[in-house]
Amino acid sequence: MDDLYKLPLTQAHQLLKEKKVSSVELTTACLSRLTRVEDKVHACVTICEDAALEQAKKADKVIRSGETKPLTGIPALIKDNMCTKGIKTTCSSKILGNFVPPYDATVVEKLKAEKAVILGKTNMDEFAMGSSTENSAFFPTRNPWDVDRVPGGSSGGSAVAIATDEAIYALGSDTGGSIRQPAGFCSVVGLKPTYGRISRFGLVAFASSLDQIGPLTKTVADCALVLNVIASHDPRDSTSAPYPVPDYTKALIPDLKKLRIGIPKEYFVEGMQKEVRTSIETAIKKLEELGAEIDCDASLPLTKYALAVYYILAPSEASANLARYDGVKYGFSYQDTNNMWEAMEKTKQFGFGAEVKRRIMLGTYALSAGYYDAYYLKAQKVRTLIRGEFDQAFQKYDALVTPTSPTVPFKLGEKVDDPMQMYLSDVCTLPINIAGLPAISIPAGFADGLPIGMQIIGKPFDEETILRIAFTYEQATDWHTRKPPI
Ligand code: GLN
Repeated sequence: MDDLYKLPLTQAHQLLKEKKVSSVELTTACLSRLTRVEDKVHACVTICEDAALEQAKKADKVIRSGETKPLTGIPALIKDNMCTKGIKTTCSSKILGNFVPPYDATVVEKLKAEKAVILGKTNMDEFAMGSSTENSAFFPTRNPWDVDRVPGGSSGGSAVAIATDEAIYALGSDTGGSIRQPAGFCSVVGLKPTYGRISRFGLVAFASSLDQIGPLTKTVADCALVLNVIASHDPRDSTSAPYPVPDYTKALIPDLKKLRIGIPKEYFVEGMQKEVRTSIETAIKKLEELGAEIDCDASLPLTKYALAVYYILAPSEASANLARYDGVKYGFSYQDTNNMWEAMEKTKQFGFGAEVKRRIMLGTYALSAGYYDAYYLKAQKVRTLIRGEFDQAFQKYDALVTPTSPTVPFKLGEKVDDPMQMYLSDVCTLPINIAGLPAISIPAGFADGLPIGMQIIGKPFDEETILRIAFTYEQATDWHTRKPPI
């Protein structure tokens, strides 16, 4: 009973439903696990112990009445850029350090409607800008596989919480890789759904044409269960798609026959770590053994422009989105001045961290009158070409497979002073956001005890195929059963 926290969501749900355990027992187990490991990994920025136990009691009532839904009574953690009514939502930034939203994000409403238990909020790179969670204004999160290394980012806290069993599942957000890259670095499952699959109402905006919310889980089946609940059309988010949501658990068929999988050679980039390449090659052989038709000659030559396009578009959108933090409406406000302009300037100067300021400067530059055509407009045009290239590839293939990241987790501090090196850690993930496609990262090996993730990319709104491939691979391997030494 003491190690209930280890359960994947599917099993926890079964036990709750059969009334073999209660939500209070499960929540207590997760909270005490969390207390034990938190000072080693620092995955959370807010822990709501009392509220969580209250929610668990309420969930137990619902369970006793026989109304157990898949997330009822299950403890979860939420990345701190999703609004939670009455619970601080900081984006790991000083500027929102004391911000308590008066409403819930749609995804949070969805969890609450199922009577889920919210344990707290997870650490992240400030405003989701980063790949290591070192850009948090509060503290860095550590990788449980080696606490001297980064967990990836920006959803580093959520990935670590799942790897260490602090919670049964977590939510993250992904603008250029922020769910998949930390999932790969921590050896958990992370899905970025198609742009428009999940409402972003109440998600603090970073780059609105790229941002998407998704689950971080212990298994692929767990991922399908969470997606079932959070995927929806929402009139409050005009970019959410008015398509019906399938039952994703039905896609979990362990069979790859007739599935055509392309391996785009450009994703085996220069500078890729040897062990990552060999692990992913071995994983691809496994997919072939399992019945998939593999084509190693797939090619997406425009991929080489994706990084440049992303680092024009994402900062441009960020510079517009972050203009709202002026110290007037909400958040940190610099008061020690008589002049409104100085107050606004100082609010931003002291409220934002270095990376956020860098993005705002990049963005305002790319959008400025003299440079708009040369940078922003051109990047938009290349974006259209990149999207077209994926469309073409998907006429031939049902899915594409690549490494999630070119390296295993790097050392804390290793890349903080070299933004270009940091940005490169997302070369394999950010083209997918540019094209708005769904992609999942699943555990696919280790190099010297450090995790390696495999990315499976699907057609728009075809999360089912990538879940099926991920599930089949997971059933045939045991990477996902390994636990960090913590
Ligand atoms: N690492 C990328 C960036 O810094 C992606 C972040 C994200 O997906 N939120 O912008």
